Amino acid sequence: MDKQANRQKQDLCPVAKKCGGCRYTDTPYAEQLKIKQKRVEQLIKAFGKVKPILGMDDPAHYRNKVHAVFDFQKGKGIVAGIYQEKSHKVVPVEGCLLENQKAGEIIQSVRELAKSFKIKAYDEDSGYGLLRHVLVRVGHATGEIMVVLVLGSPILPSKKNFVSELCKLHPEITTILINVNNKRTSMVLGEKEQVIYGKGYIEDELCGKRFKISAKSFYQVNSVQTEVLYTKATQYAGLTGKETVVDAYCGIGTIALAAAGQAKKVIGVELNKDAVRDAIANAKINRMKNVDFYQNDAGRFLTQMAEAGERVDVVFMDPPRSGSTEAFLDALIRISPERVVYISCEPETLARDIKYLTANSGYRMEEAVPVDMFPFTEGIEMVCLLSQKRSPRN
Ligand code: SAH
Repeated sequence: MDKQANRQKQDLCPVAKKCGGCRYTDTPYAEQLKIKQKRVEQLIKAFGKVKPILGMDDPAHYRNKVHAVFDFQKGKGIVAGIYQEKSHKVVPVEGCLLENQKAGEIIQSVRELAKSFKIKAYDEDSGYGLLRHVLVRVGHATGEIMVVLVLGSPILPSKKNFVSELCKLHPEITTILINVNNKRTSMVLGEKEQVIYGKGYIEDELCGKRFKISAKSFYQVNSVQTEVLYTKATQYAGLTGKETVVDAYCGIGTIALAAAGQAKKVIGVELNKDAVRDAIANAKINRMKNVDFYQNDAGRFLTQMAEAGERVDVVFMDPPRSGSTEAFLDALIRISPERVVYISCEPETLARDIKYLTANSGYRMEEAVPVDMFPFTEGIEMVCLLSQKRSPRN
């Protein structure tokens, strides 16, 4: 990178060079969208039509989930920041282009309170100290805020005072949890969790539905673009009210519940048990009686459905970055729904899975559209429609 570009990058974010979370702080937003469009076309166009990427009007501070790691640094004391790219060195961060600003302020307050309460940052090498990470989640529509203090051991000294001081500084916080992570791991959250203020989860609204979100459940980080993504996904599904629908890799049931009003029945499957518990609660909150959620591996579950000879009209699938599995795709081919709506956050595994599906069945990719969920970073989200019928263009 030349000097001028480097300087521009520094202007937008003083730690951009060290942090590595953003790739495009020195690239105008319109240019970022072009780069992503090109990348997607290289990978997906061979299978069918790729529509122009749907970008944001205001791409800054979109992340509703913000995480910081604590560290003790000589001369600075306790710092909150992010791991330097490809290392375990902590880069102090006091404001980030991607993150919700209120969440950023809360993280700084946690750091200052830790200092005045003499709470030590956890040291990864020695296992000494207490405060490891903080995670803040903000409900985009509701404004509810969850703070998760990740500790190396279960006891937070002066817990009551700490909570009341933090809430005094930020009355908009609605719940605070302690999560205990005493393992040597790069995972942020441990198993054990204790609610120390409020109800232990937040609620948010998406596509006219209300969702309960626990600390460990997956929830899309960019709420504005998630609505764009789900609207496109339900359009592609072409529901009329008569269909039986599967939402595979369903998380807390967001897509299932967004689609349930236009389907006869929706079946959601998800591996994470906290997310499934949230999904079941979310069906109740939204009074949707035609949705069932199951905790299982999506591939195993779909294989069982195929073996039982179940009829399904539409499958939504939204796997993690690693994509789906051959077991899942083989079962999908056996069940043979009329339409498959594949949502992906990793175009490479999407291309791999579409290649497998189209090579081994009568499915064709009708259309795909990238949705920019992760401005300033290299992340690309896509939704894509596969159908059994021949595309009208052919
Ligand atoms: N559709 C949801 C979640 C998508 S993220 C949403 O839009 O919010 C992918 C989800 O897949 C995560 O919730 C993750 O826990 C789940 N998952 C990962 N591996 C899985 C598997 N083998 N079977 C079922 N679900 C899985």
